[in-house]
Amino acid sequence: MSFKDDKEKFLKMTTDEKRKYYHTSNITTLNEVPTWCEYWQKNKERIDKQVNPKESDKTCSDDLAKKISMWQGDITSLEIDAIVNAANSSLLGGGGVDGAIHRAAGPNLKKECATLNGCRVGEAKITGGYKLPAKYVIHTVGPRGEKPEKLKQCYFNSLNVAKENGIRTIAFPCISTGVYGYPQRPAAEVALTTVKNYLQTHFDEIDRVIFCLFLKSDKDIYEELLQNIFN
Ligand code: ADP
Repeated sequence: MSFKDDKEKFLKMTTDEKRKYYHTSNITTLNEVPTWCEYWQKNKERIDKQVNPKESDKTCSDDLAKKISMWQGDITSLEIDAIVNAANSSLLGGGGVDGAIHRAAGPNLKKECATLNGCRVGEAKITGGYKLPAKYVIHTVGPRGEKPEKLKQCYFNSLNVAKENGIRTIAFPCISTGVYGYPQRPAAEVALTTVKNYLQTHFDEIDRVIFCLFLKSDKDIYEELLQNIFN
C-alpha cells in the first residue's frame, strides 16, 4: 500500500480499530499521564524537600499547570494526538528517539519523510503516525550544542504546526540533549519557558503538553524546574 493510502487509513480509524495495528501492546493513554498539578500534589513533600524546603506551602493553582505533564518513558507508547521527533535534517531516520519512532511507525513513515525535502534546524514538519499510537509525528531538528534561539524555535514551531493541524495533545522528547550534545538543564529551561509562553498566548488551542523524559537525570531536572516555572 502506498504511504499516502496507509496514512489516510490510519488517520480515519477509530482509536479502537487502530489499536489492533500498534507496534506494541504497552501503550499509555492521556488519562494515565497525570497533569503537573496532580503529579506535584502527590509528590510535593519529596520534591520540596529536595529542592525548595522554604516554599512547601506553594500550590499549583495556575491553570497552565493543568495543561502540562512530565512523564518518564518511551515516547512511542503514548496514545495522543502527536509526538515530536528529534530528527536530523535529512528526516530519513537516525539513532536515539528518531530511530525508536521510525521503528515503531513502520517503513511508510520514512517514505512520507522522503517527500518533505528535509528540515532545517529549528523548523518543524508533520507526518502521519502510521503504526504508532500517536496520530501524527511532528519532526523538528534541534541544534548541535547549546544554541538557545534555535532550540526555542524547535519548541515554538512544533507547537505552531500542532495548532495549525488541530492537534490538542502533544509530547516532546528532550530535543538535542542526546547525540546533539545540548546540556540537559539549559535545554530544559528553554523547553519549559518556550512552552509556557506559547500556552499563555494559545491557551484554548492546546489541551496538554507532555515532556517525555527518558532519563532519570532529566526527570530530576524537570521536577525542579517545573515547580519554579509552573506553580
Ligand atoms: P538529539 O540528536 O536531538 O540529541 P537523541 O535522540 O540523541 O536526539 O536524544 C534526545 C533525547 O531523547 C535524549 O534525552 C534521549 O535520552 C531521549 N530518548 C531516546 N530514546 C527515546 C524514546 N524512545 N522516548 C523518549 N525519549 C527518548
